[in-house]
Amino acid sequence: MNPLVKVLLDFFFPPLCHICHSFIPDAGAVHICQACRGALKPVEPPMCQVCGIPFQGAGADHLCGDCSKAKPHFDAARAVFLYEGECRELIHAFKYRNKTFLRRPLALMAAGALADFVSTQAPDVIVPVPLHKKRLRSRGFNQAVLLGELLAHEWRLPLERQAMCRIRWTVPQINLSADERRHNVKGAFAVANSAAVAGKSVLLLDDILTTGSTVEECARILKQAGASKVVVITIARAVMR
Ligand SMILES: [Zn+2]
Ligand SMILES: [Zn+2]
Repeated sequence: MNPLVKVLLDFFFPPLCHICHSFIPDAGAVHICQACRGALKPVEPPMCQVCGIPFQGAGADHLCGDCSKAKPHFDAARAVFLYEGECRELIHAFKYRNKTFLRRPLALMAAGALADFVSTQAPDVIVPVPLHKKRLRSRGFNQAVLLGELLAHEWRLPLERQAMCRIRWTVPQINLSADERRHNVKGAFAVANSAAVAGKSVLLLDDILTTGSTVEECARILKQAGASKVVVITIARAVMR
């Protein structure tokens, strides 16, 4: 770009950090400054090889207590950041304050952080966790679909927006115990287009993983519809310590 054009563009449309709103001269596509990027805590090993829950301290990856007791229906799950601090703020602004442009930094950071995991898993298709049509109407968008559109582009995978649907209204999972969450989502999902998932390795996408009950129920339904494999990715992972 012509340096004068850049000076003018920066003057009229200053690239600002999405978190602290400071000016970033070389913002790139993510638009989050180095300091704020450093405040986002990545999910790091050691972690459970299956559900991806991080363990405290050093050591090798191993199965967590829950996954060694009963293997989940999904084959593996990974998240980019711990759901706390600035990450929580970003996701809240994206989801509840209508700042849908935040899908770009979130998806681009996920595309980079999970690139190795996704290429190893070699999925055939991305399936976003669906919203109930009542919630879709009130929110106006499905956050997982918005993220999925960008990730599908980055990873050159098809996005199957309508592969699954929510057939039952569920109360928000927040404030529910792990058992209540499992019960709450039981029978809430269906595969709407089994041709989109039968015999395929599915990359199931959601914004946050808390106890995993939602993605676990989706994975169960996807496998029932013939998916050969289900791996889960989320932007954030809530860890109850
Ligand atoms: Zn910043
Ligand atoms: Zn586990």
